[in-house]
Amino acid sequence: MKITAMRLYKVPPRWLFLKVETDEGIAGWGEPVVEGRADTVRAAVEEFREYLVGKNPMTIEDHWQVMYRSGFYRGGPEVMSAISGIDQALWDIKGKFYGAPVYELLGGACRDKLKVYRWIGGDRPADIRAAALEAHEQGYSAIKMNATEEMHYIDGFEKIQAVCDRVAAIRDALGQKLDIAVDFHGRVHKTMAKVLARELDQFRLMFIEEPVLPQNNEALREIARHTAVPIATGERMFSRWEFKNLFEDGYIDIIQPDLSHAGGISECKKIAAMAEAYDVAIAPHCPLGPIALGACIQLDACTPNAFIQEQSLGIHYNKGGDLLDYIADASIYQYKDGFLDMVTGPGLGVEINEQAVAEAARRPHNWKNPIWRNFDGTVAEW
Ligand SMILES: [Mg+2]
Repeated sequence: MKITAMRLYKVPPRWLFLKVETDEGIAGWGEPVVEGRADTVRAAVEEFREYLVGKNPMTIEDHWQVMYRSGFYRGGPEVMSAISGIDQALWDIKGKFYGAPVYELLGGACRDKLKVYRWIGGDRPADIRAAALEAHEQGYSAIKMNATEEMHYIDGFEKIQAVCDRVAAIRDALGQKLDIAVDFHGRVHKTMAKVLARELDQFRLMFIEEPVLPQNNEALREIARHTAVPIATGERMFSRWEFKNLFEDGYIDIIQPDLSHAGGISECKKIAAMAEAYDVAIAPHCPLGPIALGACIQLDACTPNAFIQEQSLGIHYNKGGDLLDYIADASIYQYKDGFLDMVTGPGLGVEINEQAVAEAARRPHNWKNPIWRNFDGTVAEW
C-alpha cells in the first residue's frame, strides 16, 4: 500500500482536518492543529507530505521517527501537532486495513467504559450554578470550569474570592454529586496560584489544572505544599522528553497530553506508560474536534491509568461548528450517565462526513487567541 495524497481542510470553529489517501482505497483522517496557529501547522504538514507521499502508510513508527528525528531542530507545538495529525491518520488507515479499532492493535481494551467531562462557563455564581445543573441533568458526573480571567503577578484577593464563590455555588446546588475540575489555564503566576490552590482545597476538587505555565513547572513543588487536591498539567507539553522531568520531580498527579499536539497516538501511548511507572494518571486534553477525540478514545480504551476524557461538546469555543457536525454517525459520541461506551468501529472509530467537511472548508476560520491585559495595561496570560 502507498500513500497517494494528503488533503487538508480548515474548518470552523478552529480546526484543521487531514485526509491521507492510499492506492488501495483506504483513507485515514487526522486532526493536526494547534489552536490559533492552524496555518502554521498546515505548512508543517505540507513539508512532511513531500516525504510521505509514495511511502507505505503501515510503518507508522518509522515515519514518526523520521518526522521527529530528521529535523535537526525539532519539537514545539506546531511541528509536533503536524506529526500528531499525520500519526492519527496513519493509525486510522492501519485499523481500517485490519478491520479493527486502533486499541485492538495496541493490546486490546482494558476497560468497559470511559468517564467523560464537559466544560461549563459563567462569570457569576448564579450562571455557573445553572450551567452545572444543566450538565448534571444531561447525565454528566464531572465538569471543568476556568478559575479566573487575567491575574497579575500579585493581584487582589477579591479575584480569589470570586473563584471560591463560583465553585461554592456548584457545591451548594449539587453537593458532591458532580466532580469539579478547576483550570487555572496557566493564567496565574506562582504566588497567586499558591493562594488560590489553598483556598480551593475546601471544595474537594477532582483536580486543579495548569496551576502555572508549563515553563514554570518547578513551581508545582511549592504549590503542592499548599493543597491536597490532585494537580494536573500537560496540554502544552509535546513529547516524552518534555514529560520526563515532570515525572522525576514527583509533584504531578495527572498528566494531560493532547493527542493532536504531543505526537499523536504513538507518542501519547508511550507518555501514558511512563506515567504509569510513576503512579500518575492520564486525562487526555481534547477541546478539539471529532477526529482528535476519536484518537483519545482509542488510547483511553487500552490505557489503564486513563481515568477521564475531556470532550468539546457544547464548549464555548465551538461557535459555527461543533463536535458532531462533521461525522456520519453522531450516536458514537452519546454519553450515558457520564460515561462513553467503547467505540467499536475500525481505525479511529469515527466515520467522517467528507461532504460536510468540504463544505465547511469553504468558509475557513481565522481563530486566534484573544489578547488580554492586566489592570495596569501589561500583557496578561490568556
Ligand atoms: Mg486546560
